[in-house]
Amino acid sequence: MHLPDYKEARSRSKKKYNRIDFKIDNSIEKKYVGKKYYLKTYGCQMNEHDSENISAMLEAMGFVRADDYNDADLVLLNTCSIRENAHNKAFGMLGRLKHLKGQKKDLIIGLCGCMAQEAKVCEEILNKYKYVNFVFGTHNIYQLPEIVDRAVSSSKQQIEVYSREGDLVEGLPVVRDKNYKAFVNIIYGCDKFCTYCIVPYTRGRERSRKKEDIIEEVKSLVSDGYKEVTLLGQNVNAYGKDLYDDYDMGDLLEDIAKLNIPRIRFMTSHPWDFTDKMIEVIAKYPNIMPSVHLPVQSGSSRILKLMGRRYTRESYLELFHKIKDIIPNVSVSTDIIVGFPGEEEEDFLETLSLVNECKFDNAFTFIFSEREGTPACRLKDNTTLKEKEDRLYRLNDVVNKYFLENNKKLEGKTVKVLVEGVSDKKDMYFGYSDTNKLINFTCEKEVNCGDIVDVQITSAKTWSLDGKCK
Ligand code: SAM
Ligand code: SF4
Repeated sequence: MHLPDYKEARSRSKKKYNRIDFKIDNSIEKKYVGKKYYLKTYGCQMNEHDSENISAMLEAMGFVRADDYNDADLVLLNTCSIRENAHNKAFGMLGRLKHLKGQKKDLIIGLCGCMAQEAKVCEEILNKYKYVNFVFGTHNIYQLPEIVDRAVSSSKQQIEVYSREGDLVEGLPVVRDKNYKAFVNIIYGCDKFCTYCIVPYTRGRERSRKKEDIIEEVKSLVSDGYKEVTLLGQNVNAYGKDLYDDYDMGDLLEDIAKLNIPRIRFMTSHPWDFTDKMIEVIAKYPNIMPSVHLPVQSGSSRILKLMGRRYTRESYLELFHKIKDIIPNVSVSTDIIVGFPGEEEEDFLETLSLVNECKFDNAFTFIFSEREGTPACRLKDNTTLKEKEDRLYRLNDVVNKYFLENNKKLEGKTVKVLVEGVSDKKDMYFGYSDTNKLINFTCEKEVNCGDIVDVQITSAKTWSLDGKCK
């Protein structure tokens, strides 16, 4: 057993990482035919995509998916550690599983993902959650078949968590959630070390996949009839920096646009690495969706410095306006944290004034959550939770006003929508526009998931729009 270690994770080296080609051992393949697994995923798109790999590995072992954990022989939680509430949700689920294990002695329970990379979580599971059979970290995902196999045959807890900078694994099998849109990883890890964030510790250093491997994956998605790819990374704009001298995110976007997949999205973009070339390429190719997620975090340069974000309010605004001016019809969304240690009312008012200037199309807003071991935990914080909640409330009021205002501008217009299914109300379809807005619409002709249809917008709401198919 190897417990993760923050100090080790913090020391980044220029050393070349290993490339590992995944292969399942013959002795484990199809060994568990007749058994069922239940996989619960918390957190971001990166975790959702990891779960598509995890499902495929379990299915290669013979497991089939169960929709209810009460029916499963194996329950696996793919966890998130970005904020405290994500943590609490996973521990809450472990509590419920203890009860189930009481009734089903052979049940195998596992935990993986970002929480598994935290030393404290591993210790807690070793000491207090002895009924959890196995834990593996984000760098050990390709070892899942052996870890599960060992957990089934051993009464000892199996804990496999490498605290290293991460390898690059190719050839992991995947069962995609949908057959018309897909996630494609382009870069793993993060080297930015924003002072509040745990990701650089849980996901390792920035490691770009080779452009040829990415292009091959997208080509095979195109030939399988996929309509949309989302290029994934904690900071996609850093793509290629660790691999090439003369090939970056702008070049990759352009090469992928030429593959003629109807829709390309990418996330997340750190404002620091957003180049003019990227802006030019997004503006030039109609199949790169005019939708940019550009997290600002705060509107105060003083707080941005404390956050270690490497840009100022002024340079963010300069980039924001360049994107708006050059990319036709672009929508911009963002992430904002309130209540960062040391944030005063004036800093918060600067965030509000930035929001009033940018009028974002969408925003994910959070109260700062202390992540043990990150530098922000050592900063003095005099703001009470009540004040922070009040700031979040005031911020949400303003961001919501602009969501509605922007959506209203679409009334009467026609937008292209990628159909994703039938809405909860059952009498409408739903899908997303090129600018990533949720559209509910009626349609007299029959449409299928994956179709791209023209929808005329009839009425705008804060978080969605209604329309009718043309
Ligand atoms: N790489 C992206 C970037 O740099 O903008 C962000 C990825 S992170 C998974 C998503 C968002 O979670 C961040 O943009 C930030 O707003 C929020 N976040 C991260 N750590 C947080 C913390 N300790 N407390 C509150 N929100 C946090
Ligand atoms: Fe976290 Fe994003 Fe900063 Fe990386 S760039 S440390 S993932 S907030």
